[in-house]
Amino acid sequence: MTAAELVLKDKETKFSFELLPPLKGNNIDRVFRSIDILKEFNPQFINITSHREEYAFETNGQGYVEKKVIRKRPGTVAVAAAIQNKYGIKVIPHIISRGFTKTETEYALIDLNFMGIHDILVLRGDDTHKEKYPPRHEECNQYAIELAQQVNNLNKGIYLDGTSNEPFETPFAYGVAGYPEKHEEAPNMDSDLLYLKAKVDAGAEYVMTQMFFDNQKYYDFVKRCRSIGIEVPIIPGIKPITTANQLNVLPKIFSCDIPEDFARELRKCKDNVEVKKVSVEWTIQQALDLKKNGVPIIHFYTMMATESVRQVAEAVY
Ligand code: FAD
Repeated sequence: MTAAELVLKDKETKFSFELLPPLKGNNIDRVFRSIDILKEFNPQFINITSHREEYAFETNGQGYVEKKVIRKRPGTVAVAAAIQNKYGIKVIPHIISRGFTKTETEYALIDLNFMGIHDILVLRGDDTHKEKYPPRHEECNQYAIELAQQVNNLNKGIYLDGTSNEPFETPFAYGVAGYPEKHEEAPNMDSDLLYLKAKVDAGAEYVMTQMFFDNQKYYDFVKRCRSIGIEVPIIPGIKPITTANQLNVLPKIFSCDIPEDFARELRKCKDNVEVKKVSVEWTIQQALDLKKNGVPIIHFYTMMATESVRQVAEAVY
């Protein structure tokens, strides 16, 4: 069953969790510990993020020069395989285009196929330091839709070098990202939605949203998607805030508003223990409301804050 089929299987609201591959040099135990805690909530699938290199710069007096190129969290494909083997839970590795050549992507997809992983999330990925170090445009897929087309071709057995073979026995099924509060680069919501529709028309079986803290933003987004003919499931993504710093950082990184009544409560907290408590309560209310409104699945961005996510899941399960 593909992820979208699992989502639509029955009427009850189900859960899924996003986990990060370990930081380079660390072992996989922390990921397994998170799953050991979260598996009691019967996740329909577990997403594994993907991370491109990050460019560090220093100035040599005449401008910025590249200092080093590091990928802090490699291992998406291997972590996905390890989880699927150990737990038998469906995994959804994220495949991003920026920072990876089309050839590297093809090899990753071939590996996934061999490992029996046929669900992926197709994403563009962010540019780091884009103003000073443009991505390798000529070798990478520019937008998520081009990556989706590469996946479609591979599903038909068409490889980048022009060779072709039998189509994969189990084709890749994929979802794409959607933004209830608009993607930061989109000039307006209409434009962003048209590009989202193009990804769905290309073959995406579901949309997974960026995190939001105000459910009304999600409901409005779903309505607008439906009004332009996006019919696939739209999976809401939510996240408990865990540090005071995230109050400023998350809106910047993920282009999402934190409602003022929530922000006010967070600002009153004297330490991060209180922040977690207030935020868990907010996220529980969000999740209960989503459940009441019949969403098929609630996707939790854990950012490895497993304990907060566990508390929310326990209250809503
Ligand atoms: P696209 O769909 O390509 O859209 C990017 C922008 O370009 C949008 O503004 C869109 O309106 C516009 N656009 C789209 N197509 C075209 C076109 N043909 N011509 C002109 N404009 C166009 N990032 C990571 O690096 N790793 C992850 O693991 C990861 N996981 C994520 C999971 C989810 C559920 C979400 C919502 C986001 C995730 N991201 C991740 C972040 C994501 O990669 C960034 O938000 C990225 O900037 C956009 O990705 P996209 O797939 O939405 O891009």
